[in-house]
Amino acid sequence: MKTLIKTSILVLLISSLLPATTLALPEANPVPGGIVLLALKDNQIASSARYENKRLASIQENGVTYLLVGLPLSSKTGQHKVQIKTTDKQQQQLSFEVSAKTYKAQYLTIKNKRKVNPYEKDMPRILSEKKRKNKARKQFTDKPVMADFEVPVEGRISSIYGLRRFFNEQPRRPHTGLDIAAPQGTPIKALADGEVIESGDFFFSGNMIYLDHGQGLITLYAHLHTLNVKPGDKVYKGQIIGTVGETGRVTGPHLHLSVIANQTLVDPLLFLPQLKPHAAEYFKNN
Ligand code: ZN
Repeated sequence: MKTLIKTSILVLLISSLLPATTLALPEANPVPGGIVLLALKDNQIASSARYENKRLASIQENGVTYLLVGLPLSSKTGQHKVQIKTTDKQQQQLSFEVSAKTYKAQYLTIKNKRKVNPYEKDMPRILSEKKRKNKARKQFTDKPVMADFEVPVEGRISSIYGLRRFFNEQPRRPHTGLDIAAPQGTPIKALADGEVIESGDFFFSGNMIYLDHGQGLITLYAHLHTLNVKPGDKVYKGQIIGTVGETGRVTGPHLHLSVIANQTLVDPLLFLPQLKPHAAEYFKNN
């Protein structure tokens, strides 16, 4: 009996140490806006892998290394390829198929018309913010990927990824994130350990934070009321980084969450299986 207790304590101790090396994999969905996971052979070098000339993140799970490939919303259906090198300096191609997916349209009415049709004098600000966003999106740090994400805020899913959007009946870019509605001031948690690479008040996104989780895996939190962190800050999974607000182009208080892999904004729900019941609720009503 004593040995059994000792063994279970040991197992408990070991499993409490495991999360650092075994990470839950996101859900693969090979469609535009989805992700693909490619298991590597021992002789394939993860850090050499490129998709459309962009470096890829790799995740270890049960001793297997998987490449994480983010697929742009504009992806064509059919065969796609990842370039990779082997330890004996061979160039190889890993193929995968992308299937079609049609995203619904969403029509929103924005009271602040200037956020839909900005004034001429807003343009320099919008352009300089676009540069900052692009720079944050391109961040690539060679550290282990943290992809076992935590739900950032308790609330109702109010909009999903990929919707083709019309603001005040005018077509705009599709929705590249997940919206969770919650009262203003609700705390927002970091999805995983990471570092703040960008934050500030942006014209469309309002108060926004970008967190780097390693190897181009980045999360973005927009329309915040308060920002509790600044660029350079290290944050831990579950740390409160700000609060829900309605800054920028919004119809009400909510968190807009985006997940970026290989510079591509992909469906955050694939990384947050915990939110599936909430998503089912959304689909029932929309
Ligand atoms: Zn949104």
